[in-house]
Amino acid sequence: MRRRVWPLAWGLALVVASITGCGGGEAPAGDDRPMVLTTFTVLADMAQNVAGEHLVIESITKPGTEIHGYEPTPRDVAKASQADLVLDNGLGLEGWFEQFANQADVPHVVVSEGVEVVDITEDAYAGKPNPHAWMSPTEAQIYVDNMAAAFAELDPDHAADFEARAADYQQEIQQVHDALLEELEPLASNERALVTCEGAFSYLARDADLTEHYIWPVNAEQEATPQQIAATIEFVEGNDVPAVFCESTVSDKAMLRVVEATGTTYGGTLYVDSLSEAEGPVPTYLELIQHDAQTIATALTGGA
Ligand SMILES: [Zn+2]
Repeated sequence: MRRRVWPLAWGLALVVASITGCGGGEAPAGDDRPMVLTTFTVLADMAQNVAGEHLVIESITKPGTEIHGYEPTPRDVAKASQADLVLDNGLGLEGWFEQFANQADVPHVVVSEGVEVVDITEDAYAGKPNPHAWMSPTEAQIYVDNMAAAFAELDPDHAADFEARAADYQQEIQQVHDALLEELEPLASNERALVTCEGAFSYLARDADLTEHYIWPVNAEQEATPQQIAATIEFVEGNDVPAVFCESTVSDKAMLRVVEATGTTYGGTLYVDSLSEAEGPVPTYLELIQHDAQTIATALTGGA
């Protein structure tokens, strides 16, 4: 078995993350730092890493929230109207966002601007962009650049610090990418498959040269049809896929039926659309992507 290559700097990253916190909370009275809201927790943590202590960062949706079909509350709108900037993912992730931004009358920056988009190929979503670009550690670094640029405009006095923090953070993200590729190297080509519930891994699969197969394309429609389950069973059997996965924000029932029918291994839960609470397994983006990369590599290569 290959030696583990996961970055040693990992422990340090955790310490830094716990000092800077995630989704900081509201600015205390008398705090005149600019307030930046993000649409979901993953972006809040990335933004916090770039902003350091210079900005107040908060996520509109809480950990565990289903982001695609979220319905903003009047309180969300009121809060956003007080903010200086809102960061959204774009690519159709937040179907509710356009109306929300108009109601709150607040400037926003689309952080996925400039990524190399993968289109969804199936069902009613065919031809639309797959929104989950942050799941690629290489595309996520473009998010970080966009955040640093947006923050420099918002708070020019700290532009150099935003840029330096962004560069450090990008290096940590890149290390996760490098480790994943190295771990997956021994796999035979038919084993290089990533079978999940939602089609949220197109970008990660592209990075890691894995063939993606999923039960349904987008979580907004998470009732699996018998045809979708049958197609997944056929793919797993046809390719002798060693392990399959499901995401934390949806039921794994359909995937367990695939496991039962094929005798493949259930490889574990992957995190995509939300961080966990602070005490959970993935309270930061780096931990989320590291968790997923490690879970996928371990299950596909047949255990530790
Ligand atoms: Zn999703």
